[in-house]
Amino acid sequence: MFVLKFGGTSVGSIENMTNVKNIINDGQRKVVVLSAMSGTTNALVTISDCIKFKEIENALEQISELHNTYKVTVEKLIQNSTLKTEVASYVNSIFDTLKAVAYDNYSPLLANKIVAQGELLSTVIFSRFLKQEGLNACLLPALDFMRVDKFNEPDNFYIRQNFNRLINDLPEADIYITQGFICLDALGNIANLQRGGSDYTATIIGAALGAEEVQIWTDIDGFHNNDPRFVPETHAISNLSFDEAAELAYFGAKILHPQTVMPVRDLDIPVRLKNTLSPSSHGTLITNAIHSEGIKAIAAKDGITAIKIKSARMLLAHGFLKKVFEIFEKHETAIDMITTSEIAISLTIDETKNLSEIVTELEKFAKVEVDGYRSIVCLVGNHIVYHPDTPKLFQILQDVNVRMISYGGSSNNISLLINTSDKIETLRKLNRYVFDLVPA
Ligand code: ASP
Ligand code: MG
Repeated sequence: MFVLKFGGTSVGSIENMTNVKNIINDGQRKVVVLSAMSGTTNALVTISDCIKFKEIENALEQISELHNTYKVTVEKLIQNSTLKTEVASYVNSIFDTLKAVAYDNYSPLLANKIVAQGELLSTVIFSRFLKQEGLNACLLPALDFMRVDKFNEPDNFYIRQNFNRLINDLPEADIYITQGFICLDALGNIANLQRGGSDYTATIIGAALGAEEVQIWTDIDGFHNNDPRFVPETHAISNLSFDEAAELAYFGAKILHPQTVMPVRDLDIPVRLKNTLSPSSHGTLITNAIHSEGIKAIAAKDGITAIKIKSARMLLAHGFLKKVFEIFEKHETAIDMITTSEIAISLTIDETKNLSEIVTELEKFAKVEVDGYRSIVCLVGNHIVYHPDTPKLFQILQDVNVRMISYGGSSNNISLLINTSDKIETLRKLNRYVFDLVPA
């Protein structure tokens, strides 16, 4: 069986939903994972924030605005009158619930419930649309099988058992539609797999059913060799290894949720990135195979904070790093890059929620400097660290204001820390140099 995930843009307009219908209508049995229609999750986050800050009028206004866009979509998309009544009353019931909770006290659980509505809406609307078009599709509620454990990791045993049970219990169908992103937590509350998590849903399901392939359909032809928003001369990469894709997804290539390849990598289930707006384009195929070596792609991740921890006590001492890392662990903050000298450590984080607590604890034994507005530029390729062309890279670094370099942490990745204000220039310079698209 195949698992196909369609992102917000793919279900964001009637024209695109029709494209998706044509893509999935090939007679093959498949699971289709859907995101919320584009803009919906952001709108729901805004609504939840209004409730948090007790801006009830504002929340109600946003809810009714969003409701109107759904009314228009349903009106245009569903012509069959029985189905139209059914879908409209479902949509109304969701918005009635949202209006009612606008008066509730805010809690993270309430926020999770609110943001979950986007995927519930898109899947009901789309599955009824398929029914109208005569396709044999069936809705598979994600909350009946998708669950994370107390460490927020997918509860694979539970997912496999319940997914297979549901498929066996449901009437035979060609297409099973389910919600991306949403899940239950270990206590049975509605939770989610973090923003962009529908990609992750697709590979978790792919692993649970031993899929032949997982396809992630978006609005771009796969991973590009550089960020197309900032660099004009980019192209899609046809093949990536799981390791390369994982590094790129983590270090900023927005196209894929960072954890996407994890569930399927060891099972060697291929992940294919495809473009809904151009289904015949090759896209990017991610497998265990290594297709070429050397620098294959450049990506950048913003919102990075650098922390320099300096202490003379570090000199010839052991246990210093442990002490530092324990503080980050205690405050559940992941470290991205790290370099050390004999008396200082520089590291970066992208989650600053607990930064002041971390700094207070570090200052008990070290001098601490914090610098925000940094970006990590990451160069990815199989074995780039050993590639004969890579050392030449350092020739151009004299033109780039690099604050920190991580070389050799993995043989597939070289990371540079720069000021975010230098990012676009750095990406363009590296592009010219690395891919030789324009003579330097
Ligand atoms: N709708 C969710 C989001 O916008 C999940 C997803 O699109 O993957 O983050
Ligand atoms: Mg996405």
